[in-house]
Amino acid sequence: MFLVVLPEKAEKIIDTLNRSGYEAYAVGGCVRDLISGKEPDDYDITTNALPDEIKKVFHDCKTIDTGIKHGTVTVIADGFYTEVTTYRIDGEYKDSRRPENVTFSKNLKDDLSRRDFTINAIAYNKTDGLKDCFGGVSDIKEKIIRCVGSPEKRFNEDALRILRAVRFASVLGYTVEKNTSEAIHNYAHLLENISKERIYVEIKKLICGENAENVLKEYRDVIKIIFPGLAYISDEDYNTAAKMAATAEGDAVFRLAALMYFLPPDGASDMMRSLKCDKAAAMRVGNSLSALPVVPDSEINALKCLYFTGDGVIFDYLALKILYFKSIGDTGNAEIFSEQLETVKKAVLSKKPYKISQLGIKGSDLAENNIAKGSDIGKTLEALLFAVIEGKVPNTRDGLLKYVEKNER
Ligand code: ATP
Ligand code: MG
Repeated sequence: MFLVVLPEKAEKIIDTLNRSGYEAYAVGGCVRDLISGKEPDDYDITTNALPDEIKKVFHDCKTIDTGIKHGTVTVIADGFYTEVTTYRIDGEYKDSRRPENVTFSKNLKDDLSRRDFTINAIAYNKTDGLKDCFGGVSDIKEKIIRCVGSPEKRFNEDALRILRAVRFASVLGYTVEKNTSEAIHNYAHLLENISKERIYVEIKKLICGENAENVLKEYRDVIKIIFPGLAYISDEDYNTAAKMAATAEGDAVFRLAALMYFLPPDGASDMMRSLKCDKAAAMRVGNSLSALPVVPDSEINALKCLYFTGDGVIFDYLALKILYFKSIGDTGNAEIFSEQLETVKKAVLSKKPYKISQLGIKGSDLAENNIAKGSDIGKTLEALLFAVIEGKVPNTRDGLLKYVEKNER
């Protein structure tokens, strides 16, 4: 357990509020991280000052009305952005999503009770020390995710908490407390009410977590709500995919492709798209699961393959194959794909051309010399690139012009 010390920038915000007669504490993820010895990404401050009062206190700084209705003002001081939020009680929830309204409170405990998990419901300032109304410090020590209050009620209020619990279990390597875990399984279907964008943010964090493999396996029912296609693969394949996703050396999108290894490429990219992810991510998942048009087992074939797929796809595809065969203990096949990967890397490093833009001749050269027009230009350039790749012609303007004249006429 570590001593909680706030950085000066957070201390300053708290001090400034205190000097104007308000209570203020660091709260949530930053306190959790400090207690467990991690450096927080950002510092959230909670206070009994109302949003207008926060703005008055920080009249010398630039402030942004981030979520003024929910009590949040962002204060920019010395270049740092800090969210300062009024103590809040959430009103009735609608459709397991958002509270209908929020009420500001003068009581810190009210604010801590609306927070999702005990580990996220601790406040701290230098004067009062830790304010831990729900046993969060002990849960951090024991590495336990536990809802504040009744899990059933809290998940019905806001179903995103279901996925947040699973995400924290994966990222922090914590165990989910029994009642919280049972409620996750019982109410997983409520995630269907949650915005896809918010789900995508959480699943990307989840899949990169240190405990992702166990969590993906234990909460397959939750994962199936997000990626319905995963309901239709065998337990054995699902477990292999979970292992692949968790052990992949790559970013979240690559890991998601690994999780969908046994699905048809179109289905996988459709599921990504259904999460409203960026187009590039959806395409990347589909492409990395699609067979390569040319097997890159020689430099020439690697260059041809690079031409058709681009470098990103080919590396993802081969890395997934290696990951798969390693996961099932098939070292022979893993070796074959590792060799192909080496061949591709060498081909890229060789600086030999595999893109039309790297050819020593341009489309305009073909048109000017009356060799090709319109759509024929593209076809001719492609034929020339393949001739260069196959070593039939040097990659120079003159060489290529001569070659094309001899072969086209
Ligand atoms: P991270 O390290 O990923 O940022 P975090 O705990 O800081 O984790 P945030 O989304 O930044 O998560 O939220 C800040 C705090 O707000 C949380 O620690 C928690 O107290 C509260 N919170 C966030 N989302 C919810 C929610 N859906 N329901 C209840 N409380 C929430
Ligand atoms: Mg945070």
